[in-house]
Amino acid sequence: MRRSTNDPKRRLRQHNGEIALGAKKTESKRPWEMILFVYGFTNHTAALQFEWSWQNPSKTRRLHLTSDDEFRENDDRLSTSLRAISKMLRDKFWSRWPLHLHIMVPLKLITLQKRINASTILDVTNLPKKIRITHGKVEEFSDYHKGSIRKCVRNEYSKYLNHTKMKLFCDLCLENINLDDHKNYLNCLNMECNMSSHLTCLAKKFTKSEALEMATLQNPYDELDEEILPIGGKCSSCQIILSWGDLIQAMMIREKYVQNDLVINENFSL
Ligand SMILES: [Zn+2]
Ligand SMILES: [Zn+2]
Repeated sequence: MRRSTNDPKRRLRQHNGEIALGAKKTESKRPWEMILFVYGFTNHTAALQFEWSWQNPSKTRRLHLTSDDEFRENDDRLSTSLRAISKMLRDKFWSRWPLHLHIMVPLKLITLQKRINASTILDVTNLPKKIRITHGKVEEFSDYHKGSIRKCVRNEYSKYLNHTKMKLFCDLCLENINLDDHKNYLNCLNMECNMSSHLTCLAKKFTKSEALEMATLQNPYDELDEEILPIGGKCSSCQIILSWGDLIQAMMIREKYVQNDLVINENFSL
C-alpha cells in the first residue's frame, strides 16, 4: 500500500497498513508491516503526485518506461512497488525535492517471488547521494527528523534576529528584502554564511547556471520544460552546494516557526 501522510507514526497507529510501502505479514489482509516510506515533500500536491505515480507506475509517463511490460498488472505488488520507487527516486523531476527514504525492514531480509531479494531491486547504494536514507524503527526516524528540523529552525531563527537589527538586502539584485514576507526570500543553509536573496533572484540564477551546464552536456532543447524549476546551485557567498528543495523547506520552516513565534518558548510543536 502506498499512501501519503504527514505523520507516518500516527498513521501507522490509526490505520495499520495504509502508509508508505507495507507488506502482508499474514494471509489475512491485516496486519501489514511497514517496509519503507518517503518523506520530505514541501507541499501536499507534490506528495500526492508522487503517491499517484507510485501507485500507477504503468500509467506514469515520468518513469520513462522503455517497454510496456516493465510494470505488469499481475506482477508481485511488492516488487512492482520497489521497482517503481527505485526509478522514481532517480528521476530528475523528483530529485528536486529534499527526499528522505526511511527503511524500516531490512531489504535484504525480504525475499520476493522467484527468490529475489528486495535489496537487488531497490539498491540504496545506487540512489542519488542527495536522498537521505535512514534505517530503523519509526521512532528512530522521528528523532532524526526532529533533530534536522531543530537545526534548521536554529539557523533560520538566529538569522532572522540578526536581520531585524538592520536592513536586509538581496545578495543578487541588491534590493531591499521585506523580512516578514517569508515566502519572498531564502537564506543560505550554512550557519556561518550571510547570503540571503529573493526567492525569484536565486531561482533565476540557479536555472541559468543549470541551463548553461545542461547546454554544454547535452542537447539544450531536451526536456527544456523541466528546467523551469531549479534543482540547486552554489551559494554565491560561501560556495556550498544548495539544493533548491532544502532551501524551500527551510523557508517553510522559517515561516511556520518564526512567524508564529513558536521558537521563543522552545515549544516546537513536533
Ligand atoms: Zn533580489
Ligand atoms: Zn552561503
